[in-house]
Order: sequence, then structure tokens, then C-alpha cells
Amino acid sequence: MYNRIFNFSAGPSVLPVPVLEKARDEMLNCRGHGMSVMEMSHRSKMYSDIRDSAEASIRRVMNISDDYAVLFLQGGASLQFAMVPMNLYLSDKPVDVIDTGSWTSKAIVEINKIAKSRLVASSKSDKYTRIPTSDEISLNPDASYVHLASNNTIYGTQWHSFIDTGDVPLVVDMSSDILSYEIDVSKFGLIFAGAQKNIGPAGVTLVIIRRDLAERATDNVPTMLKYATHIKKDSMYNTPATFGIYFIDLVMDWIEGEGGISAIAERNKAQAKYLYNAIDESDFYTSPVSSESRSTMNVVFLIQGGNPELEKKFVAEATEANMVNLKGHRSVGGLRASLYNAQPMSAVEALVSFMNDFESKNG
Ligand SMILES: *Cc1c(COP(=O)(O)O)cnc(C)c1O
Repeated sequence: MYNRIFNFSAGPSVLPVPVLEKARDEMLNCRGHGMSVMEMSHRSKMYSDIRDSAEASIRRVMNISDDYAVLFLQGGASLQFAMVPMNLYLSDKPVDVIDTGSWTSKAIVEINKIAKSRLVASSKSDKYTRIPTSDEISLNPDASYVHLASNNTIYGTQWHSFIDTGDVPLVVDMSSDILSYEIDVSKFGLIFAGAQKNIGPAGVTLVIIRRDLAERATDNVPTMLKYATHIKKDSMYNTPATFGIYFIDLVMDWIEGEGGISAIAERNKAQAKYLYNAIDESDFYTSPVSSESRSTMNVVFLIQGGNPELEKKFVAEATEANMVNLKGHRSVGGLRASLYNAQPMSAVEALVSFMNDFESKNG
């Protein structure tokens, strides 16, 4: 009906059609206020109702207790790499970091500008094709916090169970798998995620922080970079990304309508399994990722163990068949299909059928 194509982008990525439709329907007259959400004063009641609703629905969907603040910030996940140590670092208590790819490597660079870190595990020597096992990780009980990324968007790996960090707060970059499976928020000190993968449009960063941790920041931390500022002002110390927050509210409604995160998680699992099975059943396609670390969100695969010419041809022909953004990240090559929450099963079926076709012609 809309001539939409199958979009496998790693981010910004596919959004639920019913949400796009709702935003379209409310574009000129949002909830009877006679203006779009982008034209509302962020200080008005009409807008604060929307903001409050977005926060309340995230709390419901993720079952977040009052011990945690839910913040809508800006600057992307990338700003959190610096903002977390600015607020949570306790002097002389290095941050324990686990390196599983580009996003954690970038975070480590930022942490080291502000604090000290200790690399407690890394899968770099295995080209980041797996998540370190718990017996490879030796945590320090006196660390300020532990930093890791739950899903490695570029390498296609994912933590399928988190490590127990005891009393040390666990800080997780969940940019590419938040809301895709159920988690117990009380096990985390701080969760952050850029919105543009599973939450909504780019421009909002969701931060879920245990309130007591926000008290750690010293007065030297700039006002805008202090979690306490945003907690105190309900993320409205300055003008927030009003449209993005509105859109997040709609996405949360959609998740609840689909049966909540548990239902979404089942679907995600089934979709990823369908694609991994197709890869595993063929000798033409292979997954470079060790089977216990495979991501349900970003499926990385190779043709003939890495044949750049055939992979290029695959991407070009897939694009012609209305399947776009299947090229792997420029740093790793190969192919990548991102299957975020809003990806319909029909997209995965179309991809697998295209893959079988391509194999029979080129294999
Ligand atoms: C996309 C992504 C980022 C970067 O997010 P920005 O919002 O662009 O800063 C960070 N970490 C992970 C795991 C990501 O997938």
C-alpha cells in the first residue's frame, strides 16, 4: 500500500508501520490540540502529558521500579560513554571494562579520558566473534562500575546472560537490543541506549539509572552532563527532543498492543532462528559468530567464507529485489541483516528465499 521496502538497516532502522501511521494521523492536530507535537511548548501541559505518558509506558513495559529514574537525553549513546564516568567514577576505583567490539572500544577511550579503567576481558584476539565466558572474566570488587555492551551491532554478538557484578553497579550499553527481550532492571546500575534501533527515531537517548548512583557526581560536572540535573527536572532542564519522546510513547503503546516484551522476544527469537538455520543449512553462507554468542538483532554472515565480489553482487541484487541495507559494517565486511523489534517476519522470509535463489545461481 505504501510501497515500503524491506529495510535491514542497523540503525536508524525499521519502525512499526502502525506507529508511523499514528504519527502521520496526528501530525497536524495532535490529540485535539490543533497543532503538531513539534509546535508545542515543552513547558505546556499538553506536552508534559505526552512526556509523562512516555515515561510511564516505558516503566510499565520494562517493569521499572521507583528506585530508578528514566531519562530522555540527547547526544546519543556515544555521549554516555563519557557521561557515565563523569558521574559514576569514584577516584582511585578503576572502571572494569569488557571489550567486545567497536562500541566498547570507543567507550573505553572516553572512560580513560575521565577516569581509569581495567580491561577485565576481551574477545579481540578472536576478532570479536564471541562474548567472553564468565570464567574468563575476573572482576574487581572495588571497581567504580562495570561497563559492557549487551549486543554488538557490528560483530553480531550478544550476551545471553549477564555476569553477576555483586555490589559493583553494572552499566550496560543496550543501544541495539533494549526492549527485545525481558530483563530484570534491578540487576543493573545504569542502562543507556540511543533510540534509533529499537525505541524510536534518532535524537533521544534513553537512560535508566538507579537513583542513588546519580548522587556520586561532584559539583565540577557540567550541569547538562549531570544525571542529577535531568532527574530533578524530569528531563526538561533544557528543551528535550519533543517529537522523539512523543514517538517513543507510540512505540511503547505498540509493544503493549503486541503483548509486551515477552511476546516480542518470542517473535525475535523465531525470526533470528529462521535466518540462522538457513545459514547453517547451507555451505555457501556461513556465520563467523560462535553459536552461543549469536545476536538475535544483527545477523552477520559471509558468502563462501568471505568472498567480497559475490557479497557485493548479493547486496546489489537484493537491493533490486527491494531488500536494502544488507551490507556488513565497513570495518568487518560480509553481510548483515538487522532484525529489530519492528522487522516483520515477511522480511526475513523474503530474505531467506532470496538467499536460496542467489545460492542456486552462484553456488
Ligand atoms: C548504534 C550504537 C551506538 C552509537 O549510538 P549513537 O546514538 O549514534 O551515539 C553505541 N553503542 C551501540 C551498541 C550501538 O549499537
